[in-house]
Amino acid sequence: MLRVVVLGAGAGGGVPQWNCGCEGCRAARSDGHELQRTQASVAFSGDGEHWFLINASPDLRQQLNATPQLHPKAGALRHTPIAGVILTNGEVDAVAGLLSMREGSPFTVYAHEKVLAILASNSIFNVLNEKNVRRQPIGVSEPFEPRLPDGARSGLEVLPFAVPGKSAWYLEGKMHPGGGSGDGDTLGLKITDKAAGKFFYFIAACAEVTDALKAEIDGAALVFFDGTVWRDDEMIRAGLGHKTGKSMGHVAMSGEDGAIARLADLNIDRKLFLHINNSNPALLPDSPERKITEEAGWQIPADGTEIVL
Ligand SMILES: [Zn+2]
Repeated sequence: MLRVVVLGAGAGGGVPQWNCGCEGCRAARSDGHELQRTQASVAFSGDGEHWFLINASPDLRQQLNATPQLHPKAGALRHTPIAGVILTNGEVDAVAGLLSMREGSPFTVYAHEKVLAILASNSIFNVLNEKNVRRQPIGVSEPFEPRLPDGARSGLEVLPFAVPGKSAWYLEGKMHPGGGSGDGDTLGLKITDKAAGKFFYFIAACAEVTDALKAEIDGAALVFFDGTVWRDDEMIRAGLGHKTGKSMGHVAMSGEDGAIARLADLNIDRKLFLHINNSNPALLPDSPERKITEEAGWQIPADGTEIVL
C-alpha cells in the first residue's frame, strides 16, 4: 500500500501570497480556506507509520500541524513519523522548510549533489546537526531505498530522473556551488512500494514535456505534475512581474506544447497539478480554465488531499 498526502499544492509564495493583490489571492483571503494553498510538498508512506516528505516547503510547520498522520505518536515525549526528506531541487520553496526541522529528531535528507552543495554553501542549514540529520547524495537514474532512522528498510524505492529545468533563481548569474554542468538541478521522482508494486510520479517542476518524459510516466496510476502557470506569459499579462513560466523552468498547462495537450494521449489513471501559482486562473473553481482542466481529466487538489494506491 502506498499512502500519499498533498501537504501543499501551491507554488512559491503560496495562495494567497503575502504581498499579492491579484484576483486569486484576493479571493483566497475572502472566501475562507477553500482557495488557500500552501507551498508544494507531498508526504508518502508504505506502512502508514513511517513517512517521507518530497521537499520541505517554507510552510512545513503549518502543513505538519494540519496533517495528523505526521504528528508525534501518542505518549511519546519526542517523536516524529518523518523518516526522511527527498529534495527535487534547491529552490526556496523546496528547501526552506528544513530550517523548521532543527529540533534534534533523526532523519535523512536525500538530494542530488548539486542541491547538497547549495545546502553546504549556506551555513544556516548547519542548524541541522549532522549527528541527527544525515545528508545522502542521490544520483540521476539511480534507484535507492530510503531508510528508517534506525537503519531499517522502508520497503520503498525512489527513482530520481532528470527533468528539463533550471537552477534555483537565486543562483542566476552566480557560480553554482555544485558546478555548472550536468543534470541534477531539477529531478522528477518515481516512488514505488516494492511489495505491493504500486507507484506514483512526482514532477512538480518541468520546463518541457519531452517524449522521454512521456514514455516514463505512461501507464502510471498517479502523477503529480507541474501546474505553475496556465499560460506562459500570464504573470506579465496580469502585471505581476516580468517572468515567463519558461524562464522559471515551468511549462504552461495550456497551449499545444502545454502539459494538458502533451500528456493527453497517455494512459494515466489520476493526474493532479501541483505547484500552482496564485496567478493561475485554473485555481478559481468557477473559471473556464478550471473547467478545461477538469474536462481533460486533471485535478487541482486541495491541501490535505490523501490518495491510497
Ligand atoms: Zn496573487
